[in-house]
Formats: sequence, C-alpha cells, structure tokens
Amino acid sequence: MRAVLLGFGGWISNPTFGHTSVLITDTDDSEYLLLDAGEGVYRDMCECGYCSISKLKAVILTHHHGDHMLGLPTLVQHAKIARTKIRVLGLEVTLRHALEILITTGISSYDTHVELIPVEPGSRINLGQFSVVFGESSHVVPSVAVRVEDADSGKCLTYSGDTSFSENVVELARGCEVLIHEASFNDSEDLARSLGHSTISDCLKVANLAGNRFVLPVHFGLEVPRLDPTYKLTSDLAVIFPSKCLQLEI
Ligand SMILES: [Zn+2]
Repeated sequence: MRAVLLGFGGWISNPTFGHTSVLITDTDDSEYLLLDAGEGVYRDMCECGYCSISKLKAVILTHHHGDHMLGLPTLVQHAKIARTKIRVLGLEVTLRHALEILITTGISSYDTHVELIPVEPGSRINLGQFSVVFGESSHVVPSVAVRVEDADSGKCLTYSGDTSFSENVVELARGCEVLIHEASFNDSEDLARSLGHSTISDCLKVANLAGNRFVLPVHFGLEVPRLDPTYKLTSDLAVIFPSKCLQLEI
C-alpha cells in the first residue's frame, strides 16, 4: 500500500500544514481510502496528485471535530458530479454529526451519493485489498484510531486520530511498520492530556511500545513541536518528519 500525507496540522494550526489527513491507495492507484476529511481535503488530494473522486471508495472519520470532517460536503458534491457513491465510516455519533453537516450545508441527494456505515471499537471492515480495524482512542469526544492492513503485502499502518496517550492505541498499532500519531504539544506544555491530545514524547512512546518501524508525528499546532534530543528511541524505530504530500510505500 501507499500512504500519502495530505496535511499534518491540527484545527488551530499553521495554515501551510493543512489539516491532518491520510490517503491510502493500492499499488496500482486504483482505489483510495481516506483517513479523516478536514476542510480543504479535496483540494489537498488534488494538489498531491490524487484527484479522481471515482477512485475514492471510503472515508473514515475518527471523530466529529471540524478539522477531521469539514471537507466532507465538498467530497460529496464531487461524488455527485462523478455519479459515484462514497462510503463514510465512523462511530454512530460521528456519522450523526456528519449527516447534520451535509444537511446544513445544503447537500441534496446525499443518500444517493453517501453510504453511512457505523463502526465500533473492535470492528473490522474489509475494503478492497485493505482490512480496517478500529480501536478506541482517548479524546474529549468519542473517537477511534484506525489500523489498515494490506492483504497483498501483509503489512499495516495505524493512524491515531486525536488522542492522549492510550494503551488501546498501542495495542492497535502493535507490529505495524508505520504509526501516524498525533503530537499536538511540546513536552513542556501540560495541557495535552486535559485536552485529549498527545505530546511529541507521548507519540514516540506509543511507537516504542508498539514496536513500529517508522513513526510520523502529525496534528501540529502553530509550530512544529520540539523533540528533546536526549529522548531515547528504540534502535529500530525511525522518526519521519511530515511534509505535505509525503508518500510512504508500505
Ligand atoms: Zn479532535
């Protein structure tokens, strides 16, 4: 599989970062799976070279905060033009808010172009060559982390969504080559846990415990969090610095 980082900022973030979203595609680029859909996500897809809406088979929403779902109406409008249907997966409460946004923003005939598929922590859904597993994360609203397994390669990627440090996310990510985990705060900022977010050290701790090969910190604020140079990584873990349209072959 290939993972394309469409953005790596949080909601109140440096606008050049874009909102955190990951496009997953197969090796032929024939089907897309989108992990979160913040404001401007379709523009970000196109800027990164993945503009074909008819290839977008599913959108997974980790939770209902705006930086994770405000791009949905535009995706559905383009699905309408392309006469295609997008499956939208998320917790029941997340999908209820997604539907409210579609209705509020005047998306008519959403039922023709959107299929809402509720999931729960522990759910496993097969989407083409990908098998997607959901795990409960620890945020200020109901939220899930997502593990994407590739049946062809046998490899996997885990995306945390928004969360403070969570053993559930460690378990979900265990053994995956890649962990994309939020790191909203510097270690010196003590607001992280109370706001349901992680520090950069929390992010690395999850990757260390889960035995990942690569960790990609995302969901930055106005600045890139600073990693303490004395922080001890396990010997086989590498940190990848995020950039817009970064591609990872997994
Ligand atoms: Zn959030």
